[in-house]
Amino acid sequence: GMGIKRFAEKTPKSLEFYKEAIKVMPGGTTANIKFFAPYPIIMEKGKGSRLYDLDGNEYIDYLLSYGALILGHGHPRVLQAVQEQLIDDGTYLFGTPHRLEVEMGRKIQQLYPSIELLRYTNSGTEATLLAIRLACAYTGKNKIAKFEGHYHGGYDQVLVSVNPSLEEAGNPHQPKSVAESKGMDHYHEEHTIILPFNDLDAASDILRKWKDELAAIIVEPIQGGFIPAERSFMEGLRKLTEELDILLIFDEVKTCFRLGMGGAQEYYNIKPDLTALGKAVGGGYPIGITGGRKNVMEVSLPKAASDVFDNSQSKNSKARDVLFHSGTYNGHPSILAAGIETIAVLEEEISRINETVEKLKTGISKLFSQRGMAVQTLGLGSIFNLIFTEKDQILNYRDLQSADFELRRELDFQLINEGIYTKPLNRYSISSAHGQAEIDQTLDAFEKVIRKL
Ligand code: PLP
Repeated sequence: GMGIKRFAEKTPKSLEFYKEAIKVMPGGTTANIKFFAPYPIIMEKGKGSRLYDLDGNEYIDYLLSYGALILGHGHPRVLQAVQEQLIDDGTYLFGTPHRLEVEMGRKIQQLYPSIELLRYTNSGTEATLLAIRLACAYTGKNKIAKFEGHYHGGYDQVLVSVNPSLEEAGNPHQPKSVAESKGMDHYHEEHTIILPFNDLDAASDILRKWKDELAAIIVEPIQGGFIPAERSFMEGLRKLTEELDILLIFDEVKTCFRLGMGGAQEYYNIKPDLTALGKAVGGGYPIGITGGRKNVMEVSLPKAASDVFDNSQSKNSKARDVLFHSGTYNGHPSILAAGIETIAVLEEEISRINETVEKLKTGISKLFSQRGMAVQTLGLGSIFNLIFTEKDQILNYRDLQSADFELRRELDFQLINEGIYTKPLNRYSISSAHGQAEIDQTLDAFEKVIRKL
């Protein structure tokens, strides 16, 4: 459409640079998701709510690095905390346990009471990976269940039925497990059972069938950060997993701090057995956290520590009886300094962030309804998505397929041309750096481009 044409006129330096980037990285990017056609914008600088590209175009950033930048770009208090850690402690990395691990951990334990013990990782992917391994080790079972359309990271065990074609995915009440990547072994399609989201009866039938082999269910309490679980569904899932002896893992990589400080588990008042945190918890620095019930987490006790605690079962254990978890950068002190300060700032800012997003959603809805266009601003807390659909309710992956993605893509390019950035077809995330000025500018841009759709 017209949007792409003008996009090309405004971003010639991005194209020029992109031609160099493809000589270094396949597709010119270091994550497939960061590519979009005709070519991604190359950003040069970020500050507060704004991004600046190579051509000097300024954007209000609603991608916010896929939701991670809950305080915007370069929050001064976070930068200062990182600088102080680097200068006062004079080190990037100790390679030993250290004070900030406990300081950050205490804070997480207070905010997430289901997290009795935790471990640090470098990403959300690693956080869900560890949660799943813990669940398999604790239960002695080797299958897991996940929901169709839910993303938990890029490794084989969970990289099934994230975005399957409807032909391959089959019956909506008994979805098939479909590998998302070339190079995956069929093992994972067999060992990862797929459930329909927000469909308790169907999920229950599948879980009862597989219960003796299922270690855990992993769920995004808010699918993709914008399709909330219905309360009765979440409560039903918790009851069912307890009854069937299956652990419940909340993947709160996207939701943590984006509903309230206590994430989706506080919002739904549900205590999962294990939780994975990521993204906002580091305020833009690479971190993940796996935490949960003490007795499950303690499956990862190091051999020497279990001897100290006189856990006689672990004495003389063979290597395979020990749960492996390691990582050179786990608990990186500079990153924990950023995380601790991010939480401190957020405790002051979170209600304002959530109010800002409500104003924006209301404003956008009003503009579209004035034009007689059916759009949903779907989401809770400080992430939402714009879905063009005639459907009353979007409850899961299948419902989402009813959306008009072509119209959305045209809207996104038109908005980019007006200085409103999210990656085409991606969600909108809001940060503490987004205030009334950003809302006004954004709504003006929407008003202008809606007329052209
Ligand atoms: N889980 C969820 C719900 C996510 O949204 C993501 C990232 O988009 C991940 C896990 C993976 O996290 P990361 O990209 O930090 O590895």
